[in-house]
Amino acid sequence: MSTPSESAPGSLSRAAEPHPRIDKAHSSPARARSTSAKAHSPAAHTRTSPANGLSPAAQHLAAQAQDFAQALVDWFSAAGKDYPWRRTTDPWAILVSEIMLQQTTIPTVLARYSNWMAQFPTPPALATADEQTALRSWEGLGYYRRVRALQAAARAIGERFGGQFPSSESGIRSLPGIGDYTTGAILSFAFNRPAPLVDANVSRVFARLLNDPAPIDAPATRRMHWQLAGVLVHPSNPRAYNAALMELGQTLCTTGEPSCLLCPVRQWCTAETPSSLPVKLPKIAVTSVEHWDIFHLTPGGLLMQQQADGTRHQGMYRLPQRPQEEVRGLHHLTDQRYAVTRYKVTRHLYRAAPDTRPQPGEQYIPLESLPHTPMASPDRKIIEKLLLHSRPHPAESNRSREEE
Ligand code: SF4
Repeated sequence: MSTPSESAPGSLSRAAEPHPRIDKAHSSPARARSTSAKAHSPAAHTRTSPANGLSPAAQHLAAQAQDFAQALVDWFSAAGKDYPWRRTTDPWAILVSEIMLQQTTIPTVLARYSNWMAQFPTPPALATADEQTALRSWEGLGYYRRVRALQAAARAIGERFGGQFPSSESGIRSLPGIGDYTTGAILSFAFNRPAPLVDANVSRVFARLLNDPAPIDAPATRRMHWQLAGVLVHPSNPRAYNAALMELGQTLCTTGEPSCLLCPVRQWCTAETPSSLPVKLPKIAVTSVEHWDIFHLTPGGLLMQQQADGTRHQGMYRLPQRPQEEVRGLHHLTDQRYAVTRYKVTRHLYRAAPDTRPQPGEQYIPLESLPHTPMASPDRKIIEKLLLHSRPHPAESNRSREEE
């Protein structure tokens, strides 16, 4: 079974949950544009009638939107954190940060954001880059579909908008991989327009403010939260308001026991036992999968397999995978275990037989090229570990050079 080898989801459970996005377009842009985006788009919710679709508790909060929003903005102006993407109004820089922050911790993004922006400072810079270079630069961030979506958006900006980032909601929303969340982020953070934002942090804050036991990941609750976000958003300072609302969830209204005594909006909060909220739908079961990989190092390079089109890691490289029965009798090197999304992966590594031949899609990569060869983080880690203890077999020298 081919299973993704992404950055471990352990990295998803952050001390402060930064940006677990609820942006339906990233896995299916077309669906997001045609359904959910229209059903509760940022524009449709901007300061709309508070009574429309809101629960009684939400209506009560909506009636005090002005004071609530101002309290958050005031708190943020004094306590807001300084991130590179908060020092810019460049929509491209904001899009990059939002895509990176999806399911990746803020420290991980901070370690890579500036280098990425230096390498790809504009949409045309990424649009004209080859995919291998983009994938290599994305390493460590995981979830590599995001970099392809970002490159697709950069190319669409070039083709449809002459390389200039669109400023209209419809233009932004038309870009590949951009849904409700990212549209709202760009509209508010780049253009300071009163568009709503809802991520997991915001949903947690709303569930507690409203003392609402409905699962926050249920479609009806999501719709209501988007609507409430549109009603509450600060009309003249949405940039600070949206950043403040998310930061409240990241720093004070955290999972577990929140810091209510420090909360700038506690006077509006109706949570009776905040640590019991939010409620979520039952989790999808974790699936265990196993891979059997071979490690074949020759003087001509390391045998690698390029992942096929249509796979999660399309175009990237990994150690060649073999059926379990083919590795029987080979020398077992080590096992690697990691988790990604709903998969718990165990990879068994074997030293290849000396007469191993490349199969279709496999090639020898010279060791000096490995640092520039795109691969997922778990693959690079295990290869670096194995290379530390390996030397090419001299008897394989001539053959592997001929095969190259
Ligand atoms: S008072 Fe406590 S539970 Fe309510 S929003 Fe603030 S931090 Fe969250």
